[in-house]
Amino acid sequence: MSATVAQPSPLDLVREDLRAFAGYASARRGGVAGSVWLNANESPLPNAADGRYGSNRYPDPQPPRLRQCLADLYGAKPEQVLVGRGSDEAIDLLVRALCRPGVDAVACAPPVFGMYAVCARLQGAPLVEVPLVEDDDGFSTDMKAMADAALQRGAKLVFLCSPANPTGQSLGLDAIATLARKLAGHAIVVVDEAYGEYASEPSAVSLVAQLPNVAVLRTLSKAHALAGARIGCLVADERLVGLLRNCQAPYPLPSPCVDLALAALAPKMLARTRATVAETVAERERLQQALQQVQGVRRVYPSQGNFLLVRFEDAGSVYERLLAHGVVVRDMRAAPGLGDALRISVGSIEDNAALLAALEAPGEGST
Ligand SMILES: *Cc1c(COP(=O)(O)O)cnc(C)c1O
Repeated sequence: MSATVAQPSPLDLVREDLRAFAGYASARRGGVAGSVWLNANESPLPNAADGRYGSNRYPDPQPPRLRQCLADLYGAKPEQVLVGRGSDEAIDLLVRALCRPGVDAVACAPPVFGMYAVCARLQGAPLVEVPLVEDDDGFSTDMKAMADAALQRGAKLVFLCSPANPTGQSLGLDAIATLARKLAGHAIVVVDEAYGEYASEPSAVSLVAQLPNVAVLRTLSKAHALAGARIGCLVADERLVGLLRNCQAPYPLPSPCVDLALAALAPKMLARTRATVAETVAERERLQQALQQVQGVRRVYPSQGNFLLVRFEDAGSVYERLLAHGVVVRDMRAAPGLGDALRISVGSIEDNAALLAALEAPGEGST
């Protein structure tokens, strides 16, 4: 594609009533500087319990260092990064900013992570479901059906999960780019890469510069082991990032969480994270092999994430047996097409050994 082809602005897809919305003018916006801060009704002194955080002051809404670190990590520009309270917040912001209740739809490919449907429901946005297709190789997204359904039913957002939770497969960049071109001017294609660090496919962040209707969700919750810090981000066209920032809470990021994220993104810690991810991937492959040998297992799907989706002859009793041994896995039986499935996170070597021991322990009724 030639770089000179004019691409529609993603702002054309934003709710018309919000396009000029400036949001809340918080005390940390507007770029004022000084040494005596009397503009936010903060306490001048830290709390007696506050050893190092300086939490008497409101935090920077988008801390520049954290934005820069995340931009470097994902291969984007800082202006293309919106940091939020987990990537869940970005999903919610996108749905609220783009979808008029009762009119503009959200599309996704079930069985998939439930937050897309939850946010659509909260906004009153119609949900367009294009089920995953299953064959001998596992699950895949029917991208042509997705494009057709999104265009026909007026979807403003198409959520793709890659690697997909709970089914484990990844999408290739060509397929994502083709879908985004078909939907240019109609919808934003959001690629949720919560498990991107565990995958062998490259990130869709590299598409954002040429295709302004591609947006990517990343998080520190999974591979970076910071689920409790609630830091995630959207990497997208900077115009869209600016607009969403105006729709976000005034101070979304708690200072202690920002400090922890910055510490975790320092080169030494990142190297350790990468080593842990490599161990998890190796352990995933080992666990997949081992599960295939377990009696009562129907199918273990290949996975690009840090979890395995497994079908059982009797998923209900396996779930109960695991619980009785103190092993908690995710019951997927209520998800469409997964009536016999459990999703099992790849744990530590000890966790996985405990899982396998519990699976192989004699069940009730055996002798
Ligand atoms: C875990 C998960 C997230 C997570 O989100 P955070 O809010 O960043 O913790 C997002 N998408 C998918 C598909 C997930 O499985």
